[in-house]
Amino acid sequence: MTASYEAVIGLEIHAQLRTATKIFCGCSTAFGAAPNSEVCPVCLGQPGALPVLNRQAVDYAVMAALALGCDVQSESIFARKNYFYPDLPKGYQISQYERPLALGGGLEIAVDGPPRFIRLTRIHMEEDAGKSLHEGFRDSETKTYVDYNRSGVPLIEIVSEPDMRSASEASEFFSRLREILVSIGVNDGNMEEGSLRCDANVSVRPVGQEKLGTKAEVKNVNSFRYLQKAIEYEIDRQIDLVSKGGRVLQETRLFDSGTGRTHSMRSKEEAHDYRYFPEPDLPPLVVAPDRVERLRAVLPELPDARRKRFVSSYGIPDYDAGVLTQSGLADYFEQVAATAGNAKAASNWVMGELLRTLNDRGTPVADVPLKPEALAGLITLVEKGTISNAIAKDVFPKMYDTGRAAADIVAAEGLAQNSDESSIIDVIRSVMAANADAVTQYRAGSQKTFGFLVGQVMKGSGGKANPKLANELLKRELESPS
Ligand SMILES: [Zn+2]
Repeated sequence: MTASYEAVIGLEIHAQLRTATKIFCGCSTAFGAAPNSEVCPVCLGQPGALPVLNRQAVDYAVMAALALGCDVQSESIFARKNYFYPDLPKGYQISQYERPLALGGGLEIAVDGPPRFIRLTRIHMEEDAGKSLHEGFRDSETKTYVDYNRSGVPLIEIVSEPDMRSASEASEFFSRLREILVSIGVNDGNMEEGSLRCDANVSVRPVGQEKLGTKAEVKNVNSFRYLQKAIEYEIDRQIDLVSKGGRVLQETRLFDSGTGRTHSMRSKEEAHDYRYFPEPDLPPLVVAPDRVERLRAVLPELPDARRKRFVSSYGIPDYDAGVLTQSGLADYFEQVAATAGNAKAASNWVMGELLRTLNDRGTPVADVPLKPEALAGLITLVEKGTISNAIAKDVFPKMYDTGRAAADIVAAEGLAQNSDESSIIDVIRSVMAANADAVTQYRAGSQKTFGFLVGQVMKGSGGKANPKLANELLKRELESPS
């Protein structure tokens, strides 16, 4: 008999705080600057340079902690994490160790079942290291270059409890977390640029066993899909190993997106002893209760609360509410719904044509060229019966590209819906004459042909016949004796 195993997963997520300057100096955090152009003696770790804590970074870290339900500590301590690496010029990273900024908290996830609460252990503040560049230079075969622009960029590290049991739960947790951080404006959510990175601690144990198995850490996974694949691979690898009587080694592993596998980077024997000690150049970080309350007061509505409100106050399905809040178009939707007065139509257009067009054109959600009032104008034309939904879908890209109002496009191109009975009947009669077989079949009881005939009538009217009216009239014509 083979024992069945369960996976135990905890995540450590590094999120860059959206400050204009670094955590301990005034250098810019802008992404993509020329290598080593955003550096100074502090972030290059030159002797005698002293760190000064960025107040905004603390505010953002506290906001993240509050949004995740953590207890913000009134006093936390920066510590030196000592190790040598070329991208770490000081020889240590300033982080928080024994006394982090925030403890506890967590968030709810739902994967194929009732929601589960995933606990957080802690959130601490730290500085990022520089970046080693192993490729892209003429002599990259033999040399490594270092860019210190990232050195000193403010981060929070969010550490979860090992509460997740599957790769999809881990991916869902990471996704929910990203959504929260982005929605409160403390992180830009850009995983490609490295502003959000995830390490996963994965172990397996026989179902029913309390004691945790030995964990392996999968480092720096930079997409939801890769996170899921990396964890799935790691779970399978460990179960295979353990069920054959082998032992999981405590080690750090890297995910190779090309092969879909993880491979060993360094073992426990090579693990660093970081020799943490309190940073002597920085006083304890004191966050007064009134500062916490001030930041709590400016926190925007969180995605979960917003999703629930969308369902209850706009009467749209939970699915729509989820897409709208996750896409970053929730504010936009609310404005369209308010102006158009039809929330379901607003949600359909925003989730459908608008989101699809943004994706097709590669336009970031923040740069949507169409004003909410303009989209509401288009929806109103459909509501009033001026144009059909099908015509509206043709008008939409023209509005999107030119910025012209829907009503102007409809007027200029003569797209208004035709509700004139006699002209629709003319079209119906010529369609019936041209499709005598279909008419005979319908009259003999074949409902299917009705749809075909409606299609022909719509086509014959250039898509402009009022569909409801065309339906009624066609039915009347078909059922009246010829
Ligand atoms: Zn600097």
